[in-house]
Amino acid sequence: MTQDMQGMNMAVRGGLNGQAPRCDHLDMVPAAEPGLPECEKCLASGLSWERLLVCLTCGWVACSDDSSGGHAQEHYRETDHPVVSALEPETAWRWCYVHGRTV
Ligand SMILES: [Zn+2]
Ligand SMILES: [Zn+2]
Ligand SMILES: [Zn+2]
Repeated sequence: MTQDMQGMNMAVRGGLNGQAPRCDHLDMVPAAEPGLPECEKCLASGLSWERLLVCLTCGWVACSDDSSGGHAQEHYRETDHPVVSALEPETAWRWCYVHGRTV
């Protein structure tokens, strides 16, 4: 009996009922002020970007994964800062690299 109930709880927490588990990384990030609206690394190597993302942990601005540089993801790999958002304040879009989805 007890084991069955534990199994149910695991299933719910794992999101098997269709509800994605909440991203707890969002609670850990301060509201950092974004830097200049440009990707420094792209500028340094003469690349252009599709979109810019801002790291919510430190405010680092870098290009999105669909840009040729992919420097936002590179920043995550180097720093473990988990969540980025779109740079435009009117775009309420956030991506968690740890969860691999929008949050
Ligand atoms: Zn997360
Ligand atoms: Zn870049
Ligand atoms: Zn960062």
